[in-house]
Amino acid sequence: MTDFISSPYSLSSQELKVIKNSFDNHTDWDKSCFDGIKVSLKDDLRPKQGNLCCYCKWKLGFDIKQVDIEHIVPKSEYSKFTFHPKNLALSCPGCNTNKSNLPVLHRTITNYPRAGTNLTIVHPYFDKYSEHIEIHDGAIYEGLSAKGCETIKLCKLFRLKKVLEKKKETQSESSPIAKLVADLNNASDAEKMQIIQALGIQTNQFQGV
Ligand SMILES: [Zn+2]
Repeated sequence: MTDFISSPYSLSSQELKVIKNSFDNHTDWDKSCFDGIKVSLKDDLRPKQGNLCCYCKWKLGFDIKQVDIEHIVPKSEYSKFTFHPKNLALSCPGCNTNKSNLPVLHRTITNYPRAGTNLTIVHPYFDKYSEHIEIHDGAIYEGLSAKGCETIKLCKLFRLKKVLEKKKETQSESSPIAKLVADLNNASDAEKMQIIQALGIQTNQFQGV
């Protein structure tokens, strides 16, 4: 697991020009003229983040709907940081939606922070994730610090326990044993005899572990 993003995306002079010419405030983020920058940004950050969401550390999908460019400090609150490279990280849509534009700063700022001290949540560039959050069994989040707890709360990371449970349920439904039980229930008497005989042979051969 990547503990933090080692370096931000570096905007090219061409990209800076596009931003300068077409960006006025945060509502411009969705303009199509920024599509190219977003693609490059995702390509750059994906490997740096080990293809994991910066908050929940679940795998990011490759479909456009399965990965978001997340503004760590909400762009609605600080328009001027909309394209600040250290304010941009990749997250899953679930974390992005839950975090939304909730405040993440202790004090208001003029310049973009250079360390994580003023942040109430884990900052993917400034903080080491493992110092703030421990993940048990892939979906149970334990806050190790105030920042860790706040990140869990804001992104509603407890939601993932349910997702994992559902996933396990579906997997067990399609397991060979579940299939065998279902086959047995649906079989005719003659087929049931065949299955039972086959199982008997297997049982006799089974030496245990
Ligand atoms: Zn996430």
